[in-house]
Amino acid sequence: MSRTAIVVGGGVIGSAAAWRLAVRGLDVTLLEQFEPGHTLGSSYGSSRIFRLAYPDTLYTSLALSALGLWRELEEESGSEVLTLTGGVDHGPEHALQPLRDSLAAVGQASGTLDPTEAAGCAGVRVAGLWYALSVVAAAVRWPCRPGSGGAPGS
Ligand SMILES: Cc1cc2nc3c(=O)[nH]c(=O)nc-3n(C[C@H](O)[C@H](O)[C@H](O)COP(=O)(O)OP(=O)(O)OC[C@H]3O[C@@H](n4cnc5c(N)ncnc54)[C@H](O)[C@@H]3O)c2cc1C
Repeated sequence: MSRTAIVVGGGVIGSAAAWRLAVRGLDVTLLEQFEPGHTLGSSYGSSRIFRLAYPDTLYTSLALSALGLWRELEEESGSEVLTLTGGVDHGPEHALQPLRDSLAAVGQASGTLDPTEAAGCAGVRVAGLWYALSVVAAAVRWPCRPGSGGAPGS
């Protein structure tokens, strides 16, 4: 007897749940009250930020797992849905260290840009003693390198 599942809500979370259940062989029905692409939920529009830098390693690990699933979805759908560009977080040192720590915990490299580099390569103007954290990961196409003098792509 085949197993069935009904998922209520066709936003990004319900759609992802329905997809993964179907991958596991369930016969899935996804119920959505509005038309595809509607603007009455949270998943409307064409872009979202995807990030690995979280202060909690759990979230960084989950994001890494999700990265594989986004790529799987691209392969199945034949279209690019996730474009990685690299990311810069800035703020006081005590706020940035947890990001470095959780990235390091899952083997993702990061670096620190001084304010001049941040302005030069990421267009980020950081005031006073605030420093930028650039996420430099193998999976991420990243234009900024600490110590690069701020030149994009160097
Ligand atoms: C402006 C904006 C910017 C954001 N930026 C980011 C970002 O950069 N990065 C990021 O990770 N997240 C971002 N988010 C958050 C992210 O978009 C949401 O967390 C995500 O879309 C939530 O998806 P969801 O499926 O839980 O909810 P929804 O997208 O709201 O989907 C719920 C769906 O359930 C349907 N539904 C509800 N009740 C019923 C019912 N009884 N019967 C049938 N259907 C029902 C609704 O119609 C809706 O389509 C942003 C959100 C907004 C609004």
